[in-house]
Amino acid sequence: MSARRDELAGNLARVRHRIEEAATAANRDPASIDLIVVTKYFPASDADLLADLGVTQIGENKDQEAGAKVDELTRRDSLTVHFIGQLQSNKANHVARYADVVQSIDRPKIVRALDAAAQTHDRTLDVLVQVSLDERTGRGGVAPDEANALADLVGETHCLNLRGVMAVAPLDGDPQRAFARLRTVADGIRAGHPEATWISAGMSGDLEAAVAEGATHLRVGSAILGSRPSLG
Ligand SMILES: *Cc1c(COP(=O)(O)O)cnc(C)c1O
Repeated sequence: MSARRDELAGNLARVRHRIEEAATAANRDPASIDLIVVTKYFPASDADLLADLGVTQIGENKDQEAGAKVDELTRRDSLTVHFIGQLQSNKANHVARYADVVQSIDRPKIVRALDAAAQTHDRTLDVLVQVSLDERTGRGGVAPDEANALADLVGETHCLNLRGVMAVAPLDGDPQRAFARLRTVADGIRAGHPEATWISAGMSGDLEAAVAEGATHLRVGSAILGSRPSLG
């Protein structure tokens, strides 16, 4: 257990150093950039160790494992839990119970389902509109030119707080160009929703590009936890 703690501590220090360097290069305050450690496929014990090491936010992307894992956390109160995976509307009720933030709002049906679910649980959730940056497939979020309308819909709900946008860089192509596009979408949404200041972008392989394009939240998994056991 303590070997694992040391491993996580070393990886975390390296990632924090990368964030500082990227922030300095972009003339930004590193303290303005939130690190979300993506714990998918790793046990609750790792998330608890990370909390001990000062991590305050974790991300999960599979509903099947996330609910039970969050229930198992002994450090639940020190952690903000982000749901970052594709969300089916029939899972909204489940996710609204254990997640504090849902980053993957990609269609009107999810807005309605999640708002109703949050109401059922008597909670309010912070949410991000997930924007597709893959011009070829259009997958992984709403099209950039439809993001504003989806944000407006979130703004009309009772239990969802619109906080900004999220995206994953396309598999091929230049991540920084994609993140620049995301920043433009974020600016457009913020014009009508001043509270929507978050830009969640950047993972283990491209966090520098995301910091350069104004990301406020990074979602880093493998660089901290190691390669995922069952994902390959
Ligand atoms: C898994 C995942 C991450 C983390 O990816 P790494 O490359 O392991 O850092 C970030 N965002 C989403 C949406 C993910 O599913």
